[in-house]
Amino acid sequence: MEPHIDAPLVPPLDALPPRHPQLRSQPPAPHITSTAERGSFCLAVCSCGWTGPARRSRDLARKDASRHTAP
Ligand SMILES: [Zn+2]
Repeated sequence: MEPHIDAPLVPPLDALPPRHPQLRSQPPAPHITSTAERGSFCLAVCSCGWTGPARRSRDLARKDASRHTAP
């Protein structure tokens, strides 16, 4: 009778994978721009938090916005 000493070292099957921070694969931030008026100025604002410089005309603010959303 030989002693059976080599116990099988099976890794626990229920070993949890390392906890990852939930990195949701987000699509590129949707840049939804709009214009906001601040006093007599107009500026472009974006849903990402970006704001353009204050412009005297809404047209320029829109151009800022389109430049921001442009790749
Ligand atoms: Zn943006």
